[in-house]
Amino acid sequence: SGRWAKAMGIVKEFEEKCATPIGKLRQVADAMSIEMHAGLASEGGSKLKMLISYVDNLPSGEEEGLFYALDLGGTNFRVLRVHLGGREKGVVSQEFEEVSIPPHLMTGTSHELFGYIAEALAKFVATETAGSHPPPGRKRELGFTFSFPVRQLSIASGTLIKWTKGFSIEDAVGEDVVGELVKALERVGLDMHVTALVNDTIGTLAGGRFYNPNVIAAVILGTGTNAAYVERAQAIPKWHGPLPKSGEMVINMEWGNFRSSHIPLTEYDHALDAESLNPGEQIFEKIISGMYLGEIVRRVLLKMAEEAAFFGDEVPAKLRIPFILRTPDMSAMHHDTSPDLKVVSSKLKDILEISNTSLKMRKVVIDTCGIVAARGARLSAAGIYGILKKLGRDNAKEGESKQEKSVIALDGGLFEHYTKFRACMESTLKELIGEGVPGNVVIEHSNDGSGIGAALLAASHSQYL
Ligand code: ADP
Ligand code: MG
Repeated sequence: SGRWAKAMGIVKEFEEKCATPIGKLRQVADAMSIEMHAGLASEGGSKLKMLISYVDNLPSGEEEGLFYALDLGGTNFRVLRVHLGGREKGVVSQEFEEVSIPPHLMTGTSHELFGYIAEALAKFVATETAGSHPPPGRKRELGFTFSFPVRQLSIASGTLIKWTKGFSIEDAVGEDVVGELVKALERVGLDMHVTALVNDTIGTLAGGRFYNPNVIAAVILGTGTNAAYVERAQAIPKWHGPLPKSGEMVINMEWGNFRSSHIPLTEYDHALDAESLNPGEQIFEKIISGMYLGEIVRRVLLKMAEEAAFFGDEVPAKLRIPFILRTPDMSAMHHDTSPDLKVVSSKLKDILEISNTSLKMRKVVIDTCGIVAARGARLSAAGIYGILKKLGRDNAKEGESKQEKSVIALDGGLFEHYTKFRACMESTLKELIGEGVPGNVVIEHSNDGSGIGAALLAASHSQYL
């Protein structure tokens, strides 16, 4: 029928606009690498902030003792207690608790948010057993993973540049987030020293390096997306401090804010951005990360409903609700292998109150998920390839041993659970590397790196060393 043809036209046009042929991905990678240079050259020199982390020593594997970590990422935060046993024993044990953040705290006040976190931490500390109390005269030490852009002032202090991922707490912007946490800890009477303030990418890098010395970068694909990597201190013109002994400095790229004319953007992306809490910002993040993928799919389906009566004469009311279709649900539909696509059918029914869908319609919904996921996955691969280019690790140099391994530590719920996204990202990276350094670039899942990594960095920066 004419409606069906019209709906197919909408999907086809969307697919064309989302296309990421390999040539385009190479342009994106080149742009990423150029912006990395610019962001390192001067403050404000690029959309990429290329933040200096003050981490100039990654864990060696020798770290020992009991450390706490707090991981504030997006929708949840976690408190961890990690027992490190040094070179021989590694991570002896870890306990953690996950707490969800009530939505009203994400847009309230700094006092309320940090108060809530401090209370949860105090409760967790209270579960210490006799063997896990700190030795007499020593304070508990904490690594704080705070996954928003921060201008670090030292390893254990930094001011919030801006919120992302649905957070908007105005009175915290420009404040030292460790100061805010310390005040809240005092209010609940918890005596603890905040030893390291890190981004989740840096935690993941540290966690990855603890197990594998070839880890050179970390990428998060979760609610948001970001990357960090190890840079030569000499290659950071904007760094005027003393050169670290290691000669290295970890850089938090804040790549979620990357944008380039080579990135394919559609009318749906522009509308999503314009209606977001942070219009014009985090464009890379808005087409790659878990917070947004399902929302893009919803917008395409809505257009098909409105302009081609795809779901019948009436536009399903629920389909108009922003963010109602979450990425885990999109992923569940995308992975539906049942002959009658019953997962798609039940998701459409339960979430959007759309019933009586035909098999043909369900297939179109899956195709739409596939288009959105593939664009995000392929662009993340291009981002990683851009980092390899910046480091000169995209090609085996002449005369050099071809054995140099580059391991990228990956973490985040999207990477972990969205199998098709992950597979597409990995195969695209292989495609980009091509003949360059096949086999020498390895993606490793750094499970829970951001939490353990913060504990490791608290250990390597302990005030009792
Ligand atoms: P954060 O980024 O908030 O620290 P995570 O790394 O745990 O948290 O990632 C959570 C995000 O991962 C969710 O917001 C969601 O977008 C995505 N996610 C979680 N589970 C799935 C899933 N089954 N399929 C696809 N994406 C998922
Ligand atoms: Mg996280």
